[in-house]
Amino acid sequence: MKAVVFHGKQKGLKVEDIRKPAPGADQALVKVAACGVCHTDLHYIEHGVPTFKPPPIVLGHEASGTIEEVGENVSRVSKGDRVLIPAVLTCGKCSACRLGRENICADMTMLGNHFDGAYAEYVAVPAKDLLHLPESIPLEEASIIADALSTPYHAVKNRARVQPGDTVAVFGCGGVGINAVQLATAAGGYVIAVDINERKLDWAVEFGAAKTINASKVERVDKEIKKLTGGGADIAIEVIGNPKTIVQALESVRVGGRLCIVGYTQEAISIIAGKIMFKELEIIGSLGCRPVDYIPLIRMIEQGLIDLKKLVTHRFSLDQLDKAFDVMKEGLSLRSIVIP
Ligand SMILES: [Zn+2]
Ligand SMILES: [Zn+2]
Repeated sequence: MKAVVFHGKQKGLKVEDIRKPAPGADQALVKVAACGVCHTDLHYIEHGVPTFKPPPIVLGHEASGTIEEVGENVSRVSKGDRVLIPAVLTCGKCSACRLGRENICADMTMLGNHFDGAYAEYVAVPAKDLLHLPESIPLEEASIIADALSTPYHAVKNRARVQPGDTVAVFGCGGVGINAVQLATAAGGYVIAVDINERKLDWAVEFGAAKTINASKVERVDKEIKKLTGGGADIAIEVIGNPKTIVQALESVRVGGRLCIVGYTQEAISIIAGKIMFKELEIIGSLGCRPVDYIPLIRMIEQGLIDLKKLVTHRFSLDQLDKAFDVMKEGLSLRSIVIP
């Protein structure tokens, strides 16, 4: 089968003909309809973030498709089923999983990180993790539910806990951030979108932002947010993973406000602890989502509360994966999908 294989930072990506995987006893072989192109892949390819399975590895963790074949123990799904493959697979046995917090599973594995992913014609995955997709949801676009939508869903609903009437500042309006805007709006929030890219800010308005701030054009973003909200946002959500932006986001919340960190950085942040104490601020992390979160999220899409089609701005073939990353780096895409 055709796949894009990552050979490490030096050798990069190569389109190759590799062996089609055979499903194990508890697995399903999925014919990939589409795989979303995520910034996380760029961390592996260009920024030296290691994959758990060392290269050569097939990347790609945001996939949908149809079941081609199932292993002998599988009965819940069958050939021809339209499915979403969650980006992260959980063990179901560790204490976090048993407490209903599978997204911080001690033994989690990730598609295109711990094992070969979906920048390929086929991918073999544990059948227990697959989610059925209703006919009303387009199969190719549905791929981006696996991460670009599910990650901000968990952040907005379970971690930032956005309620109707909350003022919510979203820092970063890329593939995940724009959906934090969309989901926070759907939850009844008054959303202020922050980015340095005008195109992304225009998109943010299309997806529900009430106000936008171009951080490159104002002296201090936190002051602008305080002006717009009369003292600070109830909630700030940081989706970039930039230490400076994280601090800025915290500065922009009101007394008793909440910061939810979704962006990833390995760097330390510097904050005055006394401010957190005196202002009773909350700083909360958010990682991926739990399997149970996919069900209401898919329902929201079915009901038209989330615009899925408009999120996919670019489509590429496997041979064009390089191009998809170029478009991402230039800030021209909201989400690209690769169609094998
Ligand atoms: Zn991702
Ligand atoms: Zn677990």
